[in-house]
Amino acid sequence: MAVESRKLAIYKKDERKLQWTTIVAIGMIHVVALLAFREDLFTYSGLAVAFFMYVLTGMFGITICYHRLLTHRSFRTYKWMEYFLTFCACQALQSGPIEWTAMHRIHHKEADEEPDPHSPLVNFLWAHAGWLFYDMPGAHTYKQYSRFAKDLARDPVQRFLNKNFYMIYIATALIIYAAGELYAGIGLSWLIWGVFARTVFLWHATWLVNSATHLWGYRNYNTDEDSTNNWWVALISFGEGWHNNHHADQRSAAHGQRWFEFDISYVVIKCMEKLGLAWDVVSPSKRVVAKRIDIMVDDEALKIADERRKDAMLESTSQLSTQTDPTIPVEVKQMSSISEAFDALISAASRANEHARNAFMKADSFEKREDITVDLKESEEKQIFEKAKDFAFSSVEQAKYAYAESLEFASQVKAFCLDASHDSQEELKNFEKRGQFITEHTYNALVRITDEVTRIFQGIGRPVITSSV
Ligand SMILES: [Zn+2]
Ligand SMILES: [Zn+2]
Repeated sequence: MAVESRKLAIYKKDERKLQWTTIVAIGMIHVVALLAFREDLFTYSGLAVAFFMYVLTGMFGITICYHRLLTHRSFRTYKWMEYFLTFCACQALQSGPIEWTAMHRIHHKEADEEPDPHSPLVNFLWAHAGWLFYDMPGAHTYKQYSRFAKDLARDPVQRFLNKNFYMIYIATALIIYAAGELYAGIGLSWLIWGVFARTVFLWHATWLVNSATHLWGYRNYNTDEDSTNNWWVALISFGEGWHNNHHADQRSAAHGQRWFEFDISYVVIKCMEKLGLAWDVVSPSKRVVAKRIDIMVDDEALKIADERRKDAMLESTSQLSTQTDPTIPVEVKQMSSISEAFDALISAASRANEHARNAFMKADSFEKREDITVDLKESEEKQIFEKAKDFAFSSVEQAKYAYAESLEFASQVKAFCLDASHDSQEELKNFEKRGQFITEHTYNALVRITDEVTRIFQGIGRPVITSSV
């Protein structure tokens, strides 16, 4: 997609107001960081502190915690570990965990469309940092943005960290200064390098993921925004530069996929897994990988990938935009005739539709409820939310299961067709065609409703369907 062909205005430009606190804070820290150019303030130990803090706040904090753990839930870990990593992230001075997560979820939801908080289709500088200097309509107060990170907003510790992230930053800055003084009377050098220069460098590394990797680089996937993979951004941002892969497969803990796409954060997550500190690490979805451009140019590989998919018969229509997999292998009864199999197909498909409809109705009626705020301490509100969510997602899962059953019956219909003697082929083919139409229709409805339910309960994570349903 050529960037020149599309140009976004700043979403709700007239309603945005300058955020002076942010402008002054970011501006001043940049000015102070310039002192790093003064020769007398440079020390090797200061540089080492800067590097250590850059890895701690950038890789463990922003990349592994804010992005892969909190925003996308790409792996699971202990609560204390989550809090510790969040604590590291707070020292990157990139807003608190709830706000960061919410903004990033909005970015994925609206990528390069109007409400995207930081699309480079406005212009490079806007995506890079300009957007930070304005408050965004619908997203700048806690009440507004926390809707997109309800899972975190329910957690009192995360709420505390979200509110006080800059205090943590300031406290650490003071500790680093004092440590430098104690070490060799070079507190100022440690402060300039270990805090200010490091903060500025990491800011720009993170911001480049928003600006550069939506403009420059190559694409593995034809995603519906303009994200790209860019090696030098990946290098300074601990693997985040493989941003096109990430947009294609948001839950995957691995952002690098091809052999040369080195992703150090994933390596660290895998090490944490080995040490028992992380589990349920989400690996790249096979369905997504099958769509990779470099694989798809090879027709033979494309054919094999398609054959592997249980729903190969739907290849022309299936476009899963969620990462759930409705093709759960299920055991169904072997029917004795084509009409029996066809009836079973219809009944399974209508059950799938019914469950999907229930899921949607529940989610929709929940959305229409006013005044649902998570910061209310009332456990009642929380319970209503939990119940609605559980009901909606379990309906989605039931729908998917029924759909999988209908697919199995459809393949029975097809098998009967293939077995039939030549003279009755025509009539039987009709069954097959109608069966295919019904399953396609069910599939599309299911995808739309899953999207809708996920949107409404945005922030609680996507439903992951496993074969154990
Ligand atoms: Zn992006
Ligand atoms: Zn993301």
